[in-house]
Amino acid sequence: MSTILVIAEHRRNELRPVTFELISAAQGLKKSADDKVLVAVVGSQAETFTAALSVSGIDEILTIPAPVPEFDPDVYEAAVSALIEAKQPSVVLLPHSVDSLGYAATLASKAGYGFATDVFIVEYQGSDLVATRGGYNQKVNVEVDFPGKSIVVMTIRASVFKPLEGSGSPAVSSFDLPTVQSRSQNKNFVEQGGGNDIDITTVDFIMSIGRGIGEETNVEQFRELAETAGATLCCSRPIADAGWLPKSRQVGQSGKVVGSCKLYVALGISGSIQHMAGMKHVPTIVAVNTDPSASIFTIAKYGIVADIFDFEEELNSQLAA
Ligand SMILES: Cc1cc2nc3c(=O)[nH]c(=O)nc-3n(C[C@H](O)[C@H](O)[C@H](O)COP(=O)(O)OP(=O)(O)OC[C@H]3O[C@@H](n4cnc5c(N)ncnc54)[C@H](O)[C@@H]3O)c2cc1C
Repeated sequence: MSTILVIAEHRRNELRPVTFELISAAQGLKKSADDKVLVAVVGSQAETFTAALSVSGIDEILTIPAPVPEFDPDVYEAAVSALIEAKQPSVVLLPHSVDSLGYAATLASKAGYGFATDVFIVEYQGSDLVATRGGYNQKVNVEVDFPGKSIVVMTIRASVFKPLEGSGSPAVSSFDLPTVQSRSQNKNFVEQGGGNDIDITTVDFIMSIGRGIGEETNVEQFRELAETAGATLCCSRPIADAGWLPKSRQVGQSGKVVGSCKLYVALGISGSIQHMAGMKHVPTIVAVNTDPSASIFTIAKYGIVADIFDFEEELNSQLAA
């Protein structure tokens, strides 16, 4: 019998959706009906998440009461290390998020566990656990195995594994946090712009603008084009950094992975590795760029070497016809 341990992620009293994706990934790693999926939740109000976590596919929820309500790297490292020691899971799944990046590598390296980040496929090939992640700036998929490692920690890319449906009735128990000295202090939360904005990870048609739009005054015409076409307007990072669209519309590594998108139209976006991390999985990508050697064309199904303003005019007239 083996155990798969999932570390739940929460922010401001809400479980993050990726938690349920990890539970789904954990299900796929069960080799026999005896294998168990444990979900641990750390925080001063950990027990308030047990109802939301009582979903299909979980055998046990472990609450770890902590002196802090929110993420703290020292607290999480101490809690998860102690939990691994006590439960000896074969695999530990964490979200590939800024939280996990704050402690997962340290935890794995101190204890000598196998480790892989940004994993989007995880499976057993025979008896070997194999994780697939991007390599060489996401140009190739790399399969990583973990010879000689009985415990493997991995961070899982968001919006890849489909959450399971249905409720469950897992056992709930509490696990004591070892004594830990936190080095951080959480003083205040600053809400990013666009807090109540549409969740771009759930939409299926996106029109995205990049630096090619030139000036802020040009945003409006692309907003109107997206609206007419029935798309959600998103952007690359420079557009969000400039405040031309809210941060909640930024696609990419430090923005969002548009997990449900089926059609992505990239307008004046070069195709940096960080942007493509959020959208290169989309089945139909259309790219419009004046530079025929722009990287975005390497992943586009349809590439149009053109000025985006000509494209906008042409598409508008086609939509009006
Ligand atoms: C740690 C880190 C995280 C990052 N995270 C993200 C992220 O989440 N998302 C993200 O997008 N970036 C991210 N970046 C930034 C990223 O590296 C690039 O700088 C950014 O993606 C470039 O945006 P862009 O393609 O809009 O601009 P550019 O690279 O400047 O490309 C503009 C493109 O527009 C084309 N163009 C210009 N005018 C026209 C026109 N009239 N018609 C047609 N085409 C035209 C040009 O040929 C060019 O290809 C991150 C960077 C770092 C270091």
